[in-house]
Amino acid sequence: MKDELSTSGMRLTCPHCSLPAIGTLAKLGLGWARQVPCRACGLRITVAPLPAVATMLPCALVVLAVSLRWLRDPATMVLAGVLSFVCMCVLYLWAVPLVKAQLTDASAVARARGNLGQGANPPD
Ligand SMILES: [Zn+2]
Repeated sequence: MKDELSTSGMRLTCPHCSLPAIGTLAKLGLGWARQVPCRACGLRITVAPLPAVATMLPCALVVLAVSLRWLRDPATMVLAGVLSFVCMCVLYLWAVPLVKAQLTDASAVARARGNLGQGANPPD
């Protein structure tokens, strides 16, 4: 229940079957060039490329600021680096949608939903 609450705003739902597709760490490790199977229906999913690239802008800005010597103080550099990384992770989880990486197979979706209905996820 607690886990459900903390992940409720995250976009971890499968675009094929609308069931929870991957965990938070799995999503963070999923780049826009990679595809993984949904753990409910098994169909391949990935992250939307443009939003995924956009989440890297804060990090890119910090790199730019350091390389152009706008940021010179090492402590500020580290702080900016950590903040931009945290910012990227948060954006990646909440703002980047999962998209289909293959055509939806209706029978796989029906199987995934059927398994759920038969008590794969018992309510408690
Ligand atoms: Zn799915």
